[in-house]
Amino acid sequence: AKEDGRNTYRFYHNSMGKQGLRLLMIQTELREAISKNQLFIQYQPQLDLKTGKLIGVEALLRWNHPKEGLISPAEFIPAAESNGMIIPISNWLLQEVCKQAMQWKQQGVANLVVAVNCSAVQFRQGDLVAEVRQALESSGLPAHELELELTESMLLQDSERVMKIMAQLKTLGIKFSIDDFGTGYSNMAYLKRFAVDKLKIDQSFVKGIANNPNDKAIVQSIIALAHSFNLKAIAEGVEDCASASILSANQCDEAQGYLYSKPLYATEFLQWFNGYN
Ligand code: C2E
Ligand code: CA
Ligand code: CA
Ligand code: CA
Repeated sequence: AKEDGRNTYRFYHNSMGKQGLRLLMIQTELREAISKNQLFIQYQPQLDLKTGKLIGVEALLRWNHPKEGLISPAEFIPAAESNGMIIPISNWLLQEVCKQAMQWKQQGVANLVVAVNCSAVQFRQGDLVAEVRQALESSGLPAHELELELTESMLLQDSERVMKIMAQLKTLGIKFSIDDFGTGYSNMAYLKRFAVDKLKIDQSFVKGIANNPNDKAIVQSIIALAHSFNLKAIAEGVEDCASASILSANQCDEAQGYLYSKPLYATEFLQWFNGYN
């Protein structure tokens, strides 16, 4: 018992130290990740549920660390947000994504909208409007082929400032979607005030759609809410046919998930597209 107690204590202590060290490692080494070409982007297809046609891709950031291997964005994005590195990383990603989308367009992938995840920090620091404009200009990508994914909490913190920036981006022709919809605030008043185009139904609800009546009810209400505001609804995390057909039967417009494709390297995406169409 004594041994146990000591082990438990030591384990607890060590793991705390390890976590702190790992965060420090991530924050330090992330600074060089761009210049060392350790960051890359994967793209996950999004489909129209009615026609089955490809309508977009979501760009997902990846970090291939030389010693640790792949580090999840769920781990390094928060670290990058807390030390400001998210700004140069997001600007790099915007440039890359627009260049890539323009290249696919030239290779015959028509009517593709590329969706990019945004961080709240980008609305507080840096010049998001200038960065977006620059990425579009240097790539030649039309603005309506770029979508920014925001979260509910981003719209509610400092909403005057966010609304101003969104209005400027909207003037350029950028689209907006609300990511992880339903997991944030239940205050829906902001849907009236912000010019969003799409609600992305969080995967936690989509996962339960076939077996959990509550999840199904939530998904149905988000779809109805989207449509009553003339917005599209997209389900993320669609993993099986049963879920896809329930979504389809409930007029969900679009879907994304492992059922159709996992996130792909840019070259893999072109192969997937050529095989798919
Ligand atoms: P998210 O935006 O909600 O992205 C969806 C996540 O679900 C992705 O994880 C994706 O790979 C995963 N996913 C897609 N389809 C399925 C499915 O059918 N089943 C399951 N179980 N998972 C699925 P990922 O790539 O690890 O990204 C995690 C989070 O990191 C993202 O959540 C997003 O919040 C953040 N993130 C990723 N890239 C960026 C970025 O470029 N900028 C910012 N600010 N955040 C990013
Ligand atoms: Ca997203
Ligand atoms: Ca999401
Ligand atoms: Ca998420």
